[in-house]
Amino acid sequence: MSHLSELELHSLEQLLDQQERAAQALIRTEAGDRADLPFAELTGEVSDLGDEASADLIVDVDNAMMGLQLEHLRDIAAARQRLREQQYGICTDCQAEIALGRLQAYPTAKRCADCQTLHERTFASPSHARM
Ligand SMILES: [Zn+2]
Repeated sequence: MSHLSELELHSLEQLLDQQERAAQALIRTEAGDRADLPFAELTGEVSDLGDEASADLIVDVDNAMMGLQLEHLRDIAAARQRLREQQYGICTDCQAEIALGRLQAYPTAKRCADCQTLHERTFASPSHARM
């Protein structure tokens, strides 16, 4: 069972709803921007490698922003899943109760502050350096 009250869970669920709508709106905006691009000109009538490279760059930047939002939506969906399973607010690493304040700031948080710090430190360490 969760350490959070019904009321607290309900308000956190509303935060998830808000964040989901915001992420979806951003994706729609991004998709709209992309549709406005003279995309056929960028990709369809490539005259040399230089043009092709710049078209690729535009697509990559778009994908990066879209990717962030899609990742956020996945986090939100995962948080909802934890709500259904009554695992919401429980750290996935150490099973400690995640503080309400942290959840209000990060409704998708799946780790307690300690485990998140540890996770980020591990992730950022030189031995895990990303390409
Ligand atoms: Zn933890």
